Amino acid sequence: MIAVVEPATERVMAEVPRAGVEETDAAVARAKRAFPAWRDVAPADRAAHLRRLADALEAESAELSTLEARNAGKPITDARGEVAMVIECFRYYAGAPERLLGQTIPVAGGVDVTFREPLGVVGLITPWNFPLVIASWKVAPALAAGNTVVLKPAELTPLSSLELERIALEAGLPEGVLNVVAGPGRECGQRLVEHPDVAKIAFTGSTDVGRGIAAGAAQTIKRVTLELGGKSANVIFADADLEAAAAAAPIAVFGNAGQDCCARSRVLVERSAMDEFMAALEREVKAIRVGDPLSESTQMGPLISADQREAVASYVPDDAPVAIQGSVPGGPGFWFAPTVLAPVSNSDRAAADEIFGPVACVIPFSGEAEAVKIANDTIYGLSGSIWTRDGAKALRVARGIDTGVISVNSNSSVRVTTPFGGFKQSGVGRELGPDALEHYTDVKNVYIATG
Ligand code: NDP
Repeated sequence: MIAVVEPATERVMAEVPRAGVEETDAAVARAKRAFPAWRDVAPADRAAHLRRLADALEAESAELSTLEARNAGKPITDARGEVAMVIECFRYYAGAPERLLGQTIPVAGGVDVTFREPLGVVGLITPWNFPLVIASWKVAPALAAGNTVVLKPAELTPLSSLELERIALEAGLPEGVLNVVAGPGRECGQRLVEHPDVAKIAFTGSTDVGRGIAAGAAQTIKRVTLELGGKSANVIFADADLEAAAAAAPIAVFGNAGQDCCARSRVLVERSAMDEFMAALEREVKAIRVGDPLSESTQMGPLISADQREAVASYVPDDAPVAIQGSVPGGPGFWFAPTVLAPVSNSDRAAADEIFGPVACVIPFSGEAEAVKIANDTIYGLSGSIWTRDGAKALRVARGIDTGVISVNSNSSVRVTTPFGGFKQSGVGRELGPDALEHYTDVKNVYIATG
């Protein structure tokens, strides 16, 4: 059994059967049996299945939000937003089955047409930071395109994915189309990567595990999409609305207690604005309400586990340049105070590694060219922000930073309708928007000689 721990109380909140290699093989076999019939469901009917699933999730959204808040330790208001996005995601991709269009291509001697074909059984491996929402980014386009799915959630947070499977079955999704295996990555995840009947792996998690998945998938030439780590820059120019930039900066790195691949954990501040920005940032950080995830007023919860807290703490040794620190509740729970290190050099360990906790590094810069240079001086390239009132400069810097997603005067990274994914070692492929569908289909080219 897996004992599922609630990070805010350190107590076991549920026990679920622990899957291993055998259960993973059984799930792949179920998905393989279900594939031909699911692929052949008429597009309008597949769309109707996804809409019914979205409706069923909506009917249970309050319970799902509470479950996710408790299991992942995230504020209930955030969890509600995530469940709303899950529902939106299934509704968005319900529009896809009838729009998976091919092409007709002019050729000599006949007609050439292309079809977008589903891949077959796809293995989806998800992390613990946004368990249900990241599952939906993969499950919804995979099913819409006619694939069947084996979903492996992180062992720390399997509950909402197991609920998704139950709700999908109750909403009439045919048996075997969506299968959840709750078990360790090294057993269930690795087996999916190796399994000859799995056509594709979509993975979100650490860059280290992503490397192993890419290497493992190469043995059977699986399609692979990877959404990995980040160390994104929040670039604040002196001509920005500094109050607005300072108000947004904390949530951009302390949201989800910093356990967010999009966290703008390197705050690049133009030197001439440092004093004013730091004063405003201090007011904002001190005001962050850290506490019980189920309280309506909580803005930041605990970290996911004692191990994660220990890993994060290693980036704040006694001699760290702590410039600002918030507070945490006493008692049980994997708490870590929101912490701002300043000034930090981009080559420092805290500025180089993805900490995945509520630790921000403030790095001063002088001028546009240096800002872009520092922003790009990382192995990652996932998200980022630029704060300035100069539109042309914003666009120049946005084009100059090697990153998959960047926002101007905003910290928003993710929308269901737009592509999301990384440059460099932040990943391969795109999720969300129309782009995701390309990663769950292959193009078939049919030539018909008309003689
Ligand atoms: P992992 O990359 O280890 O876990 C992500 C998922 O992969 C989990 O479902 C995990 O299963 C599974 N997994 C682990 N090992 C393997 C494997 N060999 N083969 C296939 N699947 C595997 O992340 P961690 O949970 O260890 O977090 C460590 C760090 O990773 C974080 O501190 C952060 O830096 C980064 N991270 C980034 C995320 C992102 O959103 N990009 C999300 C999560 C983490 P299980 O956990 O059940 O063993």
